[in-house]
Amino acid sequence: MVPGVRLVVLGKQGAGKGTQAVRVARHYVVPHISTGDIFRAAAKSGTPFGKRAAEYMERGELIPDDVVLGVVMERLEQKDAKGRGYVLDGFPRTVKQAVALSEGIGAPQEQPLVVDLEVPTDVVLTRLAARRVCSDCGANYSTSSPPKTDWICDVCGGEVVQREDDTEAAIRRRLDLYEEQTEPLIAWYMERRQLSTVDGLGDPDKVTERLIRTIDHWREMNP
Ligand SMILES: [Zn+2]
Repeated sequence: MVPGVRLVVLGKQGAGKGTQAVRVARHYVVPHISTGDIFRAAAKSGTPFGKRAAEYMERGELIPDDVVLGVVMERLEQKDAKGRGYVLDGFPRTVKQAVALSEGIGAPQEQPLVVDLEVPTDVVLTRLAARRVCSDCGANYSTSSPPKTDWICDVCGGEVVQREDDTEAAIRRRLDLYEEQTEPLIAWYMERRQLSTVDGLGDPDKVTERLIRTIDHWREMNP
């Protein structure tokens, strides 16, 4: 296996996107760039856009698009990502951001492959609605793998509960919002022939294999 890939992973909450992004990054020996992590890292390292992002985060405000893009581009310009590539997770979320990213990258041969990890809404809804969490230590459980005794945390003895934003109605709202934002994004990438859809259902190892097959195929076609 020759290392290196430029990849964007899309997928709704509960589709296993984070896990798969980490695995694929490890397989191709490229950094996993998750927007949550890079904002913290950029703020700490004090890059120009990192400093600006930190100001918004300190005030608890939403970071504007140009600053988000700045932080992402600063990360993509670093040696590891510039040399071998990256797996970008959590960005872009909108067509506007995708356009900006594409312009920021510039060269057509350096544009990433975009993989949409597809899991039906009903499946992720069931998955997310089954989640339970310890209200003290944050340990994760689900209705299919509960703590040993009566919703008392195995780790710390705290109360295991369903988070308020994990109710079915709240999850459905989040998924609807995601679809509303992402459908045009997927169409945009499809039009530019950068998109592959990968079935995200089933055993996580099998999903990883499917992703790698898809990516290898893309690499052959776009050497
Ligand atoms: Zn606990």
